[in-house]
Amino acid sequence: MPATMPAADSNSLDAGRTTRIRRNLLRWYDAHQRDLPWRKKPQPYTTWISEIMLQQTQVATVLPYYRRFLKAFPTVRALAAAPSGDVLQHWAGLGYYSRARNLHSAAQVVCQAFDGRFPDSYEGLRGLPGIGDYTAGAIASICFGERQPAVDGNVLRVVARLTNCDEPINTPAGKALIRAATVEMLPHKRVGDFNQALMELGARVCRPGSAADCDNCPVRNQCAALASKRVEALPVKNRKTAPREQDWVVVALQHQDAFLFRRRPTNGLWGGMWELPTAIVQEGRADQAASAFVRELHAGRQPTRRSTGPRAFGSVTHQLTHRRITFHGFHLRTRHRSDLGGIAEAQWATLDDARAMGISTAMQKVLDLLEKGAGEAE
Ligand code: SF4
Repeated sequence: MPATMPAADSNSLDAGRTTRIRRNLLRWYDAHQRDLPWRKKPQPYTTWISEIMLQQTQVATVLPYYRRFLKAFPTVRALAAAPSGDVLQHWAGLGYYSRARNLHSAAQVVCQAFDGRFPDSYEGLRGLPGIGDYTAGAIASICFGERQPAVDGNVLRVVARLTNCDEPINTPAGKALIRAATVEMLPHKRVGDFNQALMELGARVCRPGSAADCDNCPVRNQCAALASKRVEALPVKNRKTAPREQDWVVVALQHQDAFLFRRRPTNGLWGGMWELPTAIVQEGRADQAASAFVRELHAGRQPTRRSTGPRAFGSVTHQLTHRRITFHGFHLRTRHRSDLGGIAEAQWATLDDARAMGISTAMQKVLDLLEKGAGEAE
């Protein structure tokens, strides 16, 4: 039990409670904030890169990616001028690749429409590709001092607890309530620090479930959930539907020491990234689907008599937010690269070269499996 009973016993935010939340949270942030590279001298470009990388990804994972990305693309102009393959390559492993494609498009818009300078308002930022409420709020508040909230998953949890919010936070109504409560809390000065303090509190103190460290929380005396002993019950979420299961065949077509890679369509999952050709198994068995897919890759022609396979080299599963994909790998050799007529954008590459071309984490797993299978077969 806390040493002092929290004074907050309702979900309403009166002026006195709001003032104490602002003061206590900013003091705690000044003393305890982590030393992160994007916080040193916040600029729209670096804040933007860090905020996009941090979506769905932990700080520790982001740090090396952030440093490499800024080294390769130190300015928005450098990012705008880079080939899309280079941008995707520096993103490979972070997942959610539409974020990288949107970064690249937004950099080009900033350079072409704004002469390389970011719009300096929430509304202006909101018009750029891939910049939603959260990112626009973060950049506008941190870099321009505009009084806008930045409500990410951590802030949803913290504010739901501070205000005893019973509305599920994964619904539009719940999100709107939390956003309105966060706006009420925002100070008129240091609004960027306050937004970051809320996020930091959620990441390090007000953690999910029983991991919340209320004894060491700077706003414990203003917390309605703690006062009503509902910390572990909040935030409320509507149950998610189970992820869809999908089976994909993946064809490793080999000529000498090179494999055939193709670029995925720009829109959709892993858009613009390179892959060993894949196809979703619509019905029947994976081996039947693989044979049909190989014929399709050969544009209806039979592979030459000296071609082999396809031979199964194993299966590997990759979990995404809304689906779980099992890749069934099939390997075959061909003597003639010209046999392939059914692929629009293709390239032959060794597995080592392919790893540097910008491929997804899922495809990395497939290549690992292929290498292991090849090693075992030799
Ligand atoms: S850590 Fe505990 S006291 Fe602090 S905001 Fe979260 S639930 Fe409330």
